Amino acid sequence: MEPKLIDGRAISAAVKADVARDVTEFTQQTGVIPGLAVIIVGDDPASCVYVRNKCRACRETGIASFEIALPKETTEEVLLREIDTLNRRADVHGILVQLPLPRHIREEVVLRAISPDKDVDGFHPVNMGFLLSGRPRFAPCTPAGVMELLDRCGISVDGMHCVVIGRSNIVGKPMAQLLLARNATVTVCHSHTEDLPFYTRSADLLVAAVGKPRFVCADMVKDGAVVIDVGINRLSEGLCGDVDFATVSAKASAITPVPGGVGPMTIAMLMKNTLLAARLLACPPVEPRA
Ligand code: NDP
Repeated sequence: MEPKLIDGRAISAAVKADVARDVTEFTQQTGVIPGLAVIIVGDDPASCVYVRNKCRACRETGIASFEIALPKETTEEVLLREIDTLNRRADVHGILVQLPLPRHIREEVVLRAISPDKDVDGFHPVNMGFLLSGRPRFAPCTPAGVMELLDRCGISVDGMHCVVIGRSNIVGKPMAQLLLARNATVTVCHSHTEDLPFYTRSADLLVAAVGKPRFVCADMVKDGAVVIDVGINRLSEGLCGDVDFATVSAKASAITPVPGGVGPMTIAMLMKNTLLAARLLACPPVEPRA
């Protein structure tokens, strides 16, 4: 049986079209234009491309974008002051600091300085806490994008055994929480996992977020599994994922390609989170009394 190719480009375009429609409606109702501020420190070429793509997606969806480009010598103190200003600005609903930061700036201090109400990347401990408690507010964009792909392809993880390879704060851990919140049985594997293939072969759904080209090969995958490749590895011949697509696609029931799978979803989910931030700031939810 031919595996179903999960088309991240088409699904990302559909998500952005939905966001554009909802932004128009929100602005008509409230007079508020959702705004996203993106801070970049230094001139790392890959980061510059990511920031440009984020600003382009804002234009496509009717979200205002504010790009703040700071030189690589910027001190942590100056960056924190910039974030403080953005936290107070009424026209900025989402704030994103492009990672990685130069080595002299402490990433965790910077991410914690962003107001949790404007933390559209979902990396603030408060938003991590919401996620852990099963009530995600701003879920980190890449794993949220994986859930959106599964939803839009009609793949329910309820009752599935899902194996996530990778436990980073950006991908692996939030991915596991999002799957758990949907009633999957989740196993998280990492570099200290003994006999990794034992776990991956029992996965109904396998997520690879390792950062190693073609790490997952066919004999690590069960027949009929759904395989989600989060990896983005830049090789001289071009981009490749963490999954050996050529061999694994012969066994999988559904699989994401690289490029064109999970990658395009991250920015689409950032737009969705920015609209959510604008909505929550415009009409904060009333917390029920205990
Ligand atoms: P990290 O390097 O932060 O994490 C990699 C994880 O893989 C770690 O938890 C590590 O374990 C685990 N790992 C490494 N080697 C092995 C091994 N031999 N066996 C089992 N586990 C192993 O990467 P990220 O989570 O940030 O990113 C993962 C991949 O996803 C990268 O290719 C990255 O480029 C891509 N990515 C893609 C995005 C997108 O938009 N599509 C966004 C973000 C990332 P340990 O914790 O023990 O070290």
